[in-house]
Amino acid sequence: CGIVGYIGKDNAKSVVINGLSRLEYRGYDSAGIAFIDSGKLKIFKRSGKLRNLEIEVNRDLSLPSVAIGHTRWATHGEPTDKNAHPHTDCTGKIAVVHNGIIENFVELKNILKEKGHVFKSDTDTEVIAHLIEEEIAQGKDLLKAVFNTSQKLKGSYAIAVIYEGEPEKIVCARKDSPLVIGIGEDENFLASDVPAFLQYTNKVIFLDDDEFAVIERDRVTVYDKSGEILNKNIKTIPWS
Ligand code: GLU
Repeated sequence: CGIVGYIGKDNAKSVVINGLSRLEYRGYDSAGIAFIDSGKLKIFKRSGKLRNLEIEVNRDLSLPSVAIGHTRWATHGEPTDKNAHPHTDCTGKIAVVHNGIIENFVELKNILKEKGHVFKSDTDTEVIAHLIEEEIAQGKDLLKAVFNTSQKLKGSYAIAVIYEGEPEKIVCARKDSPLVIGIGEDENFLASDVPAFLQYTNKVIFLDDDEFAVIERDRVTVYDKSGEILNKNIKTIPWS
């Protein structure tokens, strides 16, 4: 299971699919990608091999500059197309990829259903998209929405989120599941493990538990759980 995210000058779809292929060694049962094309969120997801997804995605001729992708190792919900990540909210404007387990998802899902949310998958992950939707509906920006949502989650997560309303960024968070950021030039990366982007950059920031990051094309900002900006070390991975 793995997460890859990219924002920058290249075709984000290709960079993300390529990154996912470098994480195949971790094992997975399905794969998916979300990107923003001309202001619209698009999601492709398939059970089975990454190659199935790639064939599908290659039929789409857009050249997005931001994308997030996922290889899934199912914990809640069968390994089907609909349960593959990314997951979205009711508006279809928010896309979430997640590694880990949301232990209180049944409880959260029931509360959200009472508020009128309609669920499209059997995963624990989908509650995250709907919780973010609730926050955004209340006027929060994406970072604050992810921040507030994470406070409601019990369990483990590495998540990455993109949102049509703020198309120039990826917001991510981690707790008990790995997430690393790759620093490039006029492009930045995120992944569950360094090999996903090592061919593009060897400058990395390792996120720690309860940290959040906003990844933009020309900058990366890391926050702690109280919302303070952190001065994280950039490590250089030997290229040998
Ligand atoms: N618990 C999530 C699911 O089953 C994420 C699994 C993973 O880490 O790939 O969809």
